[in-house]
Amino acid sequence: MAIDRRDFLKFVVGGAVGTVISPLPWVSMDEVAKWSQRWAPIPEKGGDSYILSTCKLCSGGCGIRIRLIEGKRAVKIDGNPNHPVNRGGLCPLGLAGLQYLYQEDIRVRSPLKRAGGRGSGQWKPIAWEEALSEVTARLKELRLNHLSHTVAFLNGAGEGSQTQLAARFLKAYGSPNYIQLFQLSDLEAILTQTLHGVRTRLSYDLPRAHYILSFGSALLDGWGNPCWIAQAFKEWRRDSRQRRARVIQIDTMATTTASLADEWIAIKPDSEGVLALGLAQVMIEKGWLDKEFIRSRISGLEELKGLLNKDYTPDQVAGETTLDRETIIRLAKDFSAAKQPVALWGKGKGESPVSLFEAQAVHLLNLLVGSVNRPGGVYLQPDFQYVTWPKLDLDETARKGLDQPRLDGAFSNQYPKTGQLAGRFFANANLKKPYPINVLLINEANPVFSFSEKNILEVVNQIPFIVSFSSFMDETTSQADLILPASTFLERWDDSYGIPGIPFPVYGLVKPIFPPIYNTRSVGEAILSLAKNLGGSIQAALPFENMEEVIKLSAKGLFDSRKGRMTDEPPSAEGKSLASSFESFDKFWEKLVSQGTWYHPESKGESGKGRWAFSPSTLQNNPQEKVQTGKDYPFWMVPQSLLLLQSGYLPNPPFLTKYLGEETLKKNKLVVQIHPNTARAISLREGDLVEIKSVNGKIEARIHIFEGARPGCVFVPIGMGHKAYDPTLKDRGANPYPILDTRVDSLTGLDVAWATPVKIQKV
Ligand code: SF4
Repeated sequence: MAIDRRDFLKFVVGGAVGTVISPLPWVSMDEVAKWSQRWAPIPEKGGDSYILSTCKLCSGGCGIRIRLIEGKRAVKIDGNPNHPVNRGGLCPLGLAGLQYLYQEDIRVRSPLKRAGGRGSGQWKPIAWEEALSEVTARLKELRLNHLSHTVAFLNGAGEGSQTQLAARFLKAYGSPNYIQLFQLSDLEAILTQTLHGVRTRLSYDLPRAHYILSFGSALLDGWGNPCWIAQAFKEWRRDSRQRRARVIQIDTMATTTASLADEWIAIKPDSEGVLALGLAQVMIEKGWLDKEFIRSRISGLEELKGLLNKDYTPDQVAGETTLDRETIIRLAKDFSAAKQPVALWGKGKGESPVSLFEAQAVHLLNLLVGSVNRPGGVYLQPDFQYVTWPKLDLDETARKGLDQPRLDGAFSNQYPKTGQLAGRFFANANLKKPYPINVLLINEANPVFSFSEKNILEVVNQIPFIVSFSSFMDETTSQADLILPASTFLERWDDSYGIPGIPFPVYGLVKPIFPPIYNTRSVGEAILSLAKNLGGSIQAALPFENMEEVIKLSAKGLFDSRKGRMTDEPPSAEGKSLASSFESFDKFWEKLVSQGTWYHPESKGESGKGRWAFSPSTLQNNPQEKVQTGKDYPFWMVPQSLLLLQSGYLPNPPFLTKYLGEETLKKNKLVVQIHPNTARAISLREGDLVEIKSVNGKIEARIHIFEGARPGCVFVPIGMGHKAYDPTLKDRGANPYPILDTRVDSLTGLDVAWATPVKIQKV
């Protein structure tokens, strides 16, 4: 059975999500079948059983059901049909989850100590106790010398108890340098603090929206929770005229989302924020607004009007975005006239920061039509407040360490609203400013592959001692001094709090389906052991025997709230608290372990009450406008996020790599897409090998000529070009991250890296 990427996506949109994604006969697909022959044989006989848990391969928090044979061999993951968000569906990555468990080529199977030079690939297996003692000794010595602040923890794991545990550990130890990788919720917190005076996250009531204006969000390629979005698409495509929604995709290329949208607006790269302000100018000028909402909720509009009339008239915006003024006026009119319109920001999968300028400009459109905290619009979601941890008592050493400035500058005078700045962390670590880092602990992050800081490898290698908790031998782990290998999400106790973009609280329990198959431990267990070894107030801060106890504490918070329900319970009357029907926590816990998910649909997120002040001064810095193409670098390189290609810490599983089309990977060469006119202008033909060069370096790729690519651009998939992992990934394709031209957003300190000026030359 041949299924290409487009067919697959037609499946996603065209049918019931729970059944269209899940039954792909993946074990019989040739490359996967070849690869799977290296697994232990699947028992032919034996009773099967199912375990409900939560996928932790992204922050989507989907409910999963794992089929086991004789309780010891996992043979399939599919979606939990009762889960309130994914409703039985899974994205292709979730379906391939077992490949992370059994993929012995890339898994680190026991603690390893470096036995040669950094990156030499020479390792010595050691016992867990020896590895933990070595880390403990280093940490103890630094604390004794009042250098606890020179220990950093870089964490790419999503929200959950294990993440809280890691942050609490570093705080109790006495370092301010707990750094979380960028998540869209970081920018949402800055945005909502700036505009609404409250730090919170945003969620979108997409299934009920009637007009969706997406500013580059790859809705069908992994933005938000793919299963939720696929269901929303199904809602939008209902036959009834009353329900059918319009989807407008503003994008530089005819991506999957753009091809399936009602209209594709092929905009100049990185001018989405300018277009949004152009629409706002027209809406205010013409009075196409929700006047009552604005009168009662928003101030500062007069000043904003001055700015928009000065710099963002349709003619000015047409020049900047290369769209025509009629299109700008029509979009403004249609958006404001629609019932329940919503505008979305966050380019690609939403994994890379956009500027605060762009996020605010798009969010402003929702404010102008009153699509905030109402059906079909954007919700300001309250924090996930159910889970609380005991108060932390710090000792004198920890207090002194925490008084030191953070190396990344987050929450500093320069970036007072930004909570995490991993990019600034490495830039300052490179300069040893204001002090050098002595120990880096790293979990679910692979900066050597996915950071576009210049010379990231050299920067990482300046750090004297690196401890990786990775399950896989990725590029950064290859440079570590010690590896404390993590158990996968199928072998550990863990959880996830909330699901990005979903307008009600969801708690997913992650539980081991059997003990770890290799000599691994969960990151949480390793941290608890380190805390115990360090003793004193650090041990007191984490007084847990194991991760099951930690997770139980979180579950107790849910129970104590007396709210919400499990996935096997029918909807209740508005506001009814089903958790109150549990007579004891033990009964609640038993049910949670069997069902895997708690949620509280009656709690529609709504915070940020009162008036919101819009300050135009925050719209006066657009870092994108500083980068332009020119004589030396005449084309735009635009990164492309694909549902079938992982671009961060996780390696792509073979199942997904197999289904990358020839417009992405041909044999071992990355394939990039350009418009026929662009190809003709520089004498290129289909399949030509080219060098794509920016100010930061170059990559090699083959050309695919595609009418759906905007002229003057080259579209480069992100996620290939690994120098580590297994043969299905290593040395295949090219990695564009190092040649991205990163700009620092002066308002947030975040690295804004998207379109980059390049030159293209035939090799
Ligand atoms: S969307 Fe995320 S959480 Fe859901 S199945 Fe896919 S990888 Fe897992």
